Amino acid sequence: MSVSAEESAVKVCVRVRPLIEREERATAEDSVPAPLYWKADRKSIHQLDDGVTTKSFSYDRVFSSSETTNHLYQDIAKPLVVSAVEGYNGTIFAYGQTSSGKTFTMMGSKLVPGVIPLSMEEVFQTIQNYPQKEFLLRVSYMEIYNETVTDLLVDNWKRKPLEVREALNKNIYVADLTEELVTCPAQALSWVFKGEKNRHYGKTKMNERSSRSHTIFRMILESREKSDPASGDNSEGAIIVSHLNLVDLAGSERASQTGAEGARFKEGCNINRSLFTLAQVIKKLSDESQRGFTNYRDSKLTRILQNSLGGNAKTVIICTITMAALEETLSTLQFASTAKKMKNDPHVTEVSDDGALLKRYRNEIVDLKRRLQEVSSVTHVTATEKESLSQLLQEKDQLQKEQQDRIKNLTKLLVTGSSLMPAKKIPKRRVTWGGKLVRLSGTTERDVGQSDLSFAEHFSRKRKADSSSMELLEEDEEFDSRWEIPEDYSFTTDTGSVRARGDSSDFVSPSGSGQKEADLERRLEEERGEREEAQANVASLEGRLEEERGEREEAQANVASLEGRLEEERGEREEAQANVASLEGRLEEERGEREEAQANVASLEEERGEAQARLSSLQKEWQLHLQQQVELLAREKREAWEEVERLEQRALELEVQRSAQAQEQQEQVQMLELRLADLQEQSHTEAGPDEQVCSITPSSTASLIHRACSSDSITHS
Ligand code: ADP
Ligand code: MG
Repeated sequence: MSVSAEESAVKVCVRVRPLIEREERATAEDSVPAPLYWKADRKSIHQLDDGVTTKSFSYDRVFSSSETTNHLYQDIAKPLVVSAVEGYNGTIFAYGQTSSGKTFTMMGSKLVPGVIPLSMEEVFQTIQNYPQKEFLLRVSYMEIYNETVTDLLVDNWKRKPLEVREALNKNIYVADLTEELVTCPAQALSWVFKGEKNRHYGKTKMNERSSRSHTIFRMILESREKSDPASGDNSEGAIIVSHLNLVDLAGSERASQTGAEGARFKEGCNINRSLFTLAQVIKKLSDESQRGFTNYRDSKLTRILQNSLGGNAKTVIICTITMAALEETLSTLQFASTAKKMKNDPHVTEVSDDGALLKRYRNEIVDLKRRLQEVSSVTHVTATEKESLSQLLQEKDQLQKEQQDRIKNLTKLLVTGSSLMPAKKIPKRRVTWGGKLVRLSGTTERDVGQSDLSFAEHFSRKRKADSSSMELLEEDEEFDSRWEIPEDYSFTTDTGSVRARGDSSDFVSPSGSGQKEADLERRLEEERGEREEAQANVASLEGRLEEERGEREEAQANVASLEGRLEEERGEREEAQANVASLEGRLEEERGEREEAQANVASLEEERGEAQARLSSLQKEWQLHLQQQVELLAREKREAWEEVERLEQRALELEVQRSAQAQEQQEQVQMLELRLADLQEQSHTEAGPDEQVCSITPSSTASLIHRACSSDSITHS
């Protein structure tokens, strides 16, 4: 399918944001009115310098600050959304500096829905125009932050970086990205909100992050012609798959910063890589002269949106600006102008491989339909059964009622029979039917025939059988009186009459009258018939009674077992209560113990404190003592040293003295020697020289000296 040149062109529009409060305030505070940088009309924007146009930019459309998001949507986004339903890939980018209105335009708010919610409505609206087609729609929502792709539809704690991969058919996809099936706009939006919630969750620096991250909300549309039911469900219609991408880009001021300061980009700051690459790719694609390789792979954003950039997609770029900024607005307008020159090649993509989800779901639907049919037929059967059961139940109720009525009637009937007896013969005393009759039959053994006996039996049984209804009947005074029968009446058969014994003046069998006898016989016959009928009824009633007795017994057994269970449960409860009580007791004990232990700990703590205090005081004392000892020792040492010094001094002095004495003695010795020599000389001259020499020898001189020294040392010591 080829498309016109108009369709292949990328549509670029500019949206002017109204001044926000901050900017208005700034304008109001300035004495000089804020400079007017820009002037816009429906298709172009002009840069003004002192009121003179310096630059002009033209676009597909310029939306003034007074135009609503819906205006913008209808004009520029709606055609793209509709063609996405028709099978074309479509991408809408919002580009602009932070706080210029990208998110306002794409997401909007509750009151002013943005392009995303409006598109979701549109998709489902448009689908209604194709009744012959069936669609399968999925949505995904991802964020690219710092070159990491994450799934916004996944709970935060499960979020992990996702990989961008290329399939065999060259399609680029994000592995493990959640795709949620949607069947109405509200459902699609609920996923958008979930994504937004996940995105904002726990981010303290939310603004920082949101201005740095790109988000891609994507709807995947699969469609095909509905198969003709007559031709069977398995016709092989081609499936058309298209993507609708709604992209809220990071603030563009980062791209220009990156452009200006390449260094920052190199610093490993991946945040801007996607935006930077986007600008580069667009630049490349818009330049007719440049052919060949386009670097989509340089960033996650360009890789994921490859189709929308010069490829198989219709693309709309919404550039948001504010008149209050100059540089940023200029850079945005330049980007928009470049993008305007880019051309795409959109065409409808048909896939016929079995991988298409639609086909798989189609088969599943057929299968489910079949199962539904089965189930509904079963339901039908069940319903019929239920109906017939309720009918039966009604019949049973009816029967029961009838039986009750018949019991009443029969009772009446029986009574009617007895009411033949004269009222005045009825004694006040009350007797039971059975007992009385049996007794009566006993007393008239002779007269009692087979039928009468059975009659008596019959009544005795009837009394038993009807005991329940009788209790009721006895309350009825009028009716009650009829239950009383005269003691003296008996029924006889030999005469074929009811005959009174004893006083029988009012009701006597007129033995002579054949007419009367025949009459009585007829009546008896009637009564016999009635009796038999009654007998049959009584038999059936007895059966019922038996059943009821059985049921009652069963119910009683149930009650007994329930009581048993109740008893057991009561026991269990009591046990549990006892357990709780004992546990509480234990808890209490433990609490007590704990408190005690705590008290112990506290007292121990106190003791420890005291001991520590004592220890430290002892330590102090000991230290003091040691110090004193040390000082004492030091003093003693000093004194000892002084003593030593003194002794040394003394020794020195003694030495000096001693040497002086030695000197003196030496001198004395010398003197003595001299005197000796003198004396020897004298003796030589006075006497013979031999005698004199012998008496004074050197050894006697030495002993003399010695004596002199030792006498001296004794005196000095
Ligand atoms: P961005 O996503 O580009 O950072 P926002 O969309 O968050 O900017 O817009 C910044 C503020 O301006 C918001 O408070 C928003 O409500 C407001 N704003 C943006 N565009 C418009 C508009 N066209 N009309 C009214 N208010 C707007
Ligand atoms: Mg934003």
